[in-house]
Amino acid sequence: MRIAMVSAHTSPLAPLGGRETGGMNVYVLELSRELGRIGFEVDIFTRLDGVLPAIEDVAPNVRLVRIEAGPAALIEKETIVDHLPEFATNMRRFAAAQPVPYGVVHSHYWQSGWAGGILARASDVPHVVMFHTLGEVKNRARISEHEPVQRIHHERNVVRRADAIVTASDHERVFLERYYGADPGQVHTIPCGIDLDLFYPRDRTMAREQLGLDPAAPVLLWVGRLEKLKGVDILVSAAAQLAERDFTLLIVGGDDRAHALRGELEAQAAAEGVAANVRFDGAVSHDSLPLYYSAADVVVVPSYYESFGLVAVEAMACGTPVVASRVGGLQSTVADGVTGYLIPWRCPEPFSEKLEVLLNNPELRANFGIAARRSVERYRWSRIGSEMAAFYSHVYADHWHGSGNEGIAGISREAFEAAVVAAAR
Ligand code: UDP
Repeated sequence: MRIAMVSAHTSPLAPLGGRETGGMNVYVLELSRELGRIGFEVDIFTRLDGVLPAIEDVAPNVRLVRIEAGPAALIEKETIVDHLPEFATNMRRFAAAQPVPYGVVHSHYWQSGWAGGILARASDVPHVVMFHTLGEVKNRARISEHEPVQRIHHERNVVRRADAIVTASDHERVFLERYYGADPGQVHTIPCGIDLDLFYPRDRTMAREQLGLDPAAPVLLWVGRLEKLKGVDILVSAAAQLAERDFTLLIVGGDDRAHALRGELEAQAAAEGVAANVRFDGAVSHDSLPLYYSAADVVVVPSYYESFGLVAVEAMACGTPVVASRVGGLQSTVADGVTGYLIPWRCPEPFSEKLEVLLNNPELRANFGIAARRSVERYRWSRIGSEMAAFYSHVYADHWHGSGNEGIAGISREAFEAAVVAAAR
């Protein structure tokens, strides 16, 4: 069984922590790897955005296919929409030339949903969509967000036409039903997976030494794409309100394009008297993050919205408690009072209060850390990959149900389902 994974606007191999490169990139790559491990053949389609090979092997059974559409250079996400018809046409052409057709198209984000829908219809295979973020959600999360109506219009069309939608949290499922008219039977929730062989607790003293951090002073950590929706300003103010003056607030993420926001945060830290406490490390490689999470006393996720929030789960996997906004997927990953705290307000005081509680109680922190690590087992990729495989099987069966069709490329529905069940074991 071959899967066409569509990630039009961003490549899963792009450096992480940039403005457009975060959770979705990690997710697409890791899910594809896991499906490849199970035995699926996965082609990930992305737009050609540099002098790069058209086809690249990225893992056993997984290839990255770069499709020509617009300039072969990095361009703003918003302008990629102009090149989507070309992207869809060239992706179809590539798919049609394949010796074995794809059985399922799985698209990520609305732009891919648009192009992936065309590929799926042309190939007469089911289309599974995952939005990762939704325009309506962003507009409702933060007063100054203005996602264009055009995006929301396209999202509604993608919802209407998709065979199935996967959400990473119940919150997003309810949202799709309420604001996008999704059919409850169309939406299925499968959480994101985490690489638990990468994210596990490291020795704190060693981690701090390697990162040049004081071995004894409190360390607060924030990780992500540096953008306003992440609420880092709330965290800077919360840190400034701590009674403790000898802490470090480590901010990880953000490339050149986050220059303006970083400047604003630096000015804010100076105005609030904590400039010397805040350290910006910029974007770091995914592989070095376990060191950061292990060095921290608390990881803070003060976002206005997170559809899932991989950072919170990665931190918990490293045995570090999380103080997070009570929004989106964080509500289902962080257990309030067990693995961290969930803050219902988007203001610094309640964050500061809970940070004080954790920083002043090493035993509580340690207990939360142990519970946190235990809580992430359900996000192990082998488990999530099998759930997705079973879901593909279900969607595939639905698509061919009653058509009398023998299935794709000589694989009968029964044989496919049996293979998936065997692989999931
Ligand atoms: N990340 C990284 N290096 C950085 C910043 C972020 O590898 O410098 C990764 C982080 O480990 C996580 C992802 O980017 O896997 C961010 O995902 P999350 O779901 O937290 O946020 P999103 O990007 O989806 O808004």
